[in-house]
Amino acid sequence: MRDIHHFCGGKELKGGSGTFGDVYNPTTGEVQARVAFATRAEAEQIIANAAEAFPGWAATSPIARARVMFRFRDLVEKHKDELAALLSSEHGKVLPDAAGDVQRGLEVVEFACGIPHLLKGEYSDSVSKGLDVYSMRQPLGVCAGITPFNFPAMVPMWMFAVAIACGNTFVLKPSEKDPSVPVRLAELMMEAGAPPGVLNVLQGDKTAVDAVLTDPRVQAISFVGSTPIAQYVYSTAAAHGKRCQAMGGAKNHMIVMPDADMEQVTDALIGAAYGSAGERCMAISVAVPVGEQTADALIEKLAPRVRSLNVGPSHSHDADLGPLVTKQHYDKVRGYIDLGVTEGAELVVDGRDLTLQGYENGYFMGGSLFDRVTPDMRIYKEEIFGPVLSVVRAADFDQACALPSDHEFGNGVAIFTRDGDAAREFANKVNVGMVGVNVPIPVPLSFHTFGGWKKSAFGDTNQHGPEGVRFYTHIKTVTGRWPTGVRAGADFSIPTVS
Ligand code: NAD
Repeated sequence: MRDIHHFCGGKELKGGSGTFGDVYNPTTGEVQARVAFATRAEAEQIIANAAEAFPGWAATSPIARARVMFRFRDLVEKHKDELAALLSSEHGKVLPDAAGDVQRGLEVVEFACGIPHLLKGEYSDSVSKGLDVYSMRQPLGVCAGITPFNFPAMVPMWMFAVAIACGNTFVLKPSEKDPSVPVRLAELMMEAGAPPGVLNVLQGDKTAVDAVLTDPRVQAISFVGSTPIAQYVYSTAAAHGKRCQAMGGAKNHMIVMPDADMEQVTDALIGAAYGSAGERCMAISVAVPVGEQTADALIEKLAPRVRSLNVGPSHSHDADLGPLVTKQHYDKVRGYIDLGVTEGAELVVDGRDLTLQGYENGYFMGGSLFDRVTPDMRIYKEEIFGPVLSVVRAADFDQACALPSDHEFGNGVAIFTRDGDAAREFANKVNVGMVGVNVPIPVPLSFHTFGGWKKSAFGDTNQHGPEGVRFYTHIKTVTGRWPTGVRAGADFSIPTVS
């Protein structure tokens, strides 16, 4: 049995708590490794290490920090296949999708390579006689990231690449379900030339999370995961005076207008709803055809495609989707399908009883498709996070737009149409953070910024892009005058600009 430990001060730190979490291979259902869960004292040791490394790293010039990121970029590229294989063996997503997970993280590293430019401040010359004002962005100190199981490479890189390039040191608390890739990334950061202590990995559960949330040495917390935990992390971090961005769950809608090309819509939906077994925070889980005719046409095209989805082991290169991450999650998704039937939705395709020959103990599930789902049903209101698509029929454009706008989640949304006016109106009005126009999964590229609205995100600064740089730095503004003012004598009135 392989044991996975912490990474601290540039090397493995063996967990001494005696408490471990099981790491499964979702394809076989076997426990393939154990991950050490940190005690509070171990978490504090790791935070102390990051705090010690901070002054030296903050004093390293931005260009030298960027060079580390350039080397890290090359190393991740070189080890991409190895990382993807490790990732898919613990997560269950199929290999090409796992490579995409690594690639989307790498793009944030590429963004972080431009840090000297991104950290430039502003300068106002002679705002008054002899008076200049300038600003600079400075790192915060020790920052921490708490990440979900579903993107074990991309989400950690969203966070630590920007934080570290800005001059902070970082403590990463990855998901206990797939903890190996984060450790490998930390090793590669050291190989790239980051000094020991700049990137640390703290393995564990709530005990580890609570330690980073309450330790006064941690300045900022970035969280991605489910909404209840996001809310807990946000409020606890705030109560301890930390800045916090906490991304939560989702229920992403795709509006299908009557003029949309049904072939394109079907292709887009099948990938966006069922890819990665629906375990993506930007997966489409609700399709909203406008008008009965559109709805009937959509179901007719979609149902056979869902029935013929190619479900395969995670090491497959050509399967459409792999298994769900754990038995517990499999049971939860299955429970939602049972619930949908009880609630009166029409189960057009039932993926519950799939078994894969040779992998009978794996957590495989076929695609499920519900029609005539209504907004009062729990399968509409709650996040299922599995290969299940609900169709909610809307009478017209306004009703279709109201659905995602009124939903408590507000991560992503898409509209498929050939009408520019409808698309433009939709993009302007919809009460959701990320919008796709004929793009089913509108994950912004790294130089833009990622973040939902409403219960999908707490805090006011998004992940990566210029927003990420703002999150991981504080701004200092200097107002300076050289001594002619002193010669003029002291002034006891409030300063005003002339
Ligand atoms: P999760 O909330 O169960 O876990 C996320 C992290 O929180 C993990 O590191 C976990 O160890 C920790 N955690 C779990 N329970 C905790 C507790 N009681 N106290 C403190 N920490 C705790 O989420 P998950 O199942 O790993 O990931 C799936 C969820 O993440 C979905 O809801 C998905 O929508 C969401 N997600 C959101 C985004 C986004 O950007 N909005 C991106 C990816 C995933």
